Amino acid sequence: MTTGAAVLGSIDDQISDRIRAADFRSWRKHVESVGGCAKPIHLDGEWRIEHAETGDTLAERAGQVMAPCGNRRASVCPACADRYAADCFHLIRAGLSGGKGIPDTVAGKPRLFVTLTAPSFGPVHTQRRGAGSGKRIPCGCGAFHLDADTRLGTPIDPATYDYAGAVLWQAHSGDLWHRFTVRLRRELAKAAGLKVREIDQHARIAYAKVAEYQRRGLIHFHAVIRLDGPHGAHSPAPHWAHPDLLTAAVEAAARGSHVRRTLATPTGDTAQHRFVWGTQVDIRTIQPVDATKVETGRGEITDHALAGYIAKYATKGTSTSDAADRPIRSEVDIDNLIISEHHRTMIRTAWDLGGLPGLGFLRRWAHMLGFRGHFLTKSQRYSRSFQDLRAERAHWRHTELLERFGVTDDDIIVINDWRTTGAGYNTDAERELAGAIYERIRQQRITRYDREATA
Ligand SMILES: [Zn+2]
Ligand SMILES: [Zn+2]
Repeated sequence: MTTGAAVLGSIDDQISDRIRAADFRSWRKHVESVGGCAKPIHLDGEWRIEHAETGDTLAERAGQVMAPCGNRRASVCPACADRYAADCFHLIRAGLSGGKGIPDTVAGKPRLFVTLTAPSFGPVHTQRRGAGSGKRIPCGCGAFHLDADTRLGTPIDPATYDYAGAVLWQAHSGDLWHRFTVRLRRELAKAAGLKVREIDQHARIAYAKVAEYQRRGLIHFHAVIRLDGPHGAHSPAPHWAHPDLLTAAVEAAARGSHVRRTLATPTGDTAQHRFVWGTQVDIRTIQPVDATKVETGRGEITDHALAGYIAKYATKGTSTSDAADRPIRSEVDIDNLIISEHHRTMIRTAWDLGGLPGLGFLRRWAHMLGFRGHFLTKSQRYSRSFQDLRAERAHWRHTELLERFGVTDDDIIVINDWRTTGAGYNTDAERELAGAIYERIRQQRITRYDREATA
């Protein structure tokens, strides 16, 4: 309880005042229109559709409106993260089992769920189990760690942990993924008994991948890899294509890909770096079973569950703390972040290395612990894009409008004129109410989903 709250009255009083205010109904409508977005953008202006010949106004919207913030991170805006996750789900799902312009024959093609990890940069606190017995064995520090132990994933000896190596690996992980895809094509050709330059006439690799931060502040890439025929999603996979062959090629490509760089060091020298994947590579065959279970046994995974899984990864941040939401502007910022000392050291390492020649970009990505890639990327042929999905929704609304007035695109003039006037909410009471609106919309969606699932 702050002293300010005593003057203004309790949050409950503020909320009931807001609800009784004359403009509440229209305010609530605005917030509902953005799905209860936590930090909506306020716009002022007008949108109008006029009949080109008569000049009659067919439809209009003018005055103050809200637009969703569009943030991907659930910690920043749960409402917009939900929408992002839903789009992500549909994209991944379409590439796995068809829909949104992708034929459902993709479900019969060789498809793998692959996890590529970062190598070790020094021992970290872990929960371990004996390989054969499955019995718990102590961490390298001698202790048994519980799930909630904040030491998990952090270095046992921070003084000897290779922070520079970790940050530099992370900064080059996107390049390493690229090397992996190039190598995979080569390994696939070899496995099929073809020359590398011949492979495109027989098969194409399509993929979608997400980056997920682990406790140790390093990312894993989770990827769906599909083997298509020469023309992509619509062409049948070659006769030799089998999940086992693809698995072997992925394994070989993961082991064989590396990125070499000569980078500046703090002593004024340069050093040779060779970035590789961690030894832990997880490869599972995706089964075309529409079940609610994630695991079907024998390390297999179903496509529906998998799409949900990946969508969830895509809305996660740097995990243990989301305090570092924005780029770091100065060294002082780093000291003030409310994050673990391990993450702080990674951020500081990235910032310091960013002061060296040729490594300036690291400062821009220090808050991401050096990672400068995108959270969700896919090959062009995997499935549709986010832009496609959004354009499709806008097109659908537009078509509906034209039908309603019985006109075509040639008959109308669209006037769209908006300017930004602000962002977010004015008071804690409004923020709380918006949160409740988001929660209600979410519950309604879950109920509707359950009803459809049991119908
Ligand atoms: Zn939002
Ligand atoms: Zn330990």
